Amino acid sequence: MHAHVLHDILQQLRRAAHDAGRPVPRLLAVSKTQDETAVAELALQGQDAFGENYVQEAAAKRAAMAATAAAGRALEWHLIGHLQSNKAAEAAALFDWVHTVDRPKLATALARHRRAGTPLDVLIQVNIDDEASKHGCRPADVPALAAAIAAEPALRLRGLMVIPTPHADPEQRRPSFRRAKALFDALAAQFAGVDTLSMGMSDDFAIAVAEGSTLVRIGTALFGSRPPKAAP
Ligand SMILES: *Cc1c(COP(=O)(O)O)cnc(C)c1O
Repeated sequence: MHAHVLHDILQQLRRAAHDAGRPVPRLLAVSKTQDETAVAELALQGQDAFGENYVQEAAAKRAAMAATAAAGRALEWHLIGHLQSNKAAEAAALFDWVHTVDRPKLATALARHRRAGTPLDVLIQVNIDDEASKHGCRPADVPALAAAIAAEPALRLRGLMVIPTPHADPEQRRPSFRRAKALFDALAAQFAGVDTLSMGMSDDFAIAVAEGSTLVRIGTALFGSRPPKAAP
């Protein structure tokens, strides 16, 4: 990956934020399916936050990072994929952030397994379009889940994460981003430390930033297309 790709994305983020009169969001580089060499290359260009979807893949990649030129770099690892409660122990040990806390049981499990040291930064994943098949809690359930997280000293409630319904036209996702921002503002008014609204991916980040995203999760636009999944 060429250095100008990261530079271009950062510039697009700054421009989108400037045009909307909003703060520049953080960039989370989504490195799922990319190997440790690709991660190391980006890390050496200054990118410090990486998003992974699967606990096992992230564990292997983190271990493999020791053999790369980026070994020893302080990187932040974010879990952005759905998390089953039986993987909570491993996730709590491996990640700095979990974006996909969507039920009290998972919050409790993560808190129980987070060992001494810094608290785990967590986001509540909200099913912003109320899709039957999707993960994420209902918007109406955010206050109760936020209270459950705030009651755990091992967790730090940082905000919300959303994945709108993937319409072919990203512009169609704007109302979902707007609803997420309203929910986020209400949460931030109620809980100290809430500062992160995770929304926007490769094909819609400019819209998400215009609507108030503070952290965008970008994979394809940084690394190129992901290799297709192996056939089962
Ligand atoms: C894969 C993924 C992304 C990145 O998507 P791109 O379209 O490749 O930028 C962002 N968020 C989540 C939750 C993902 O699973």
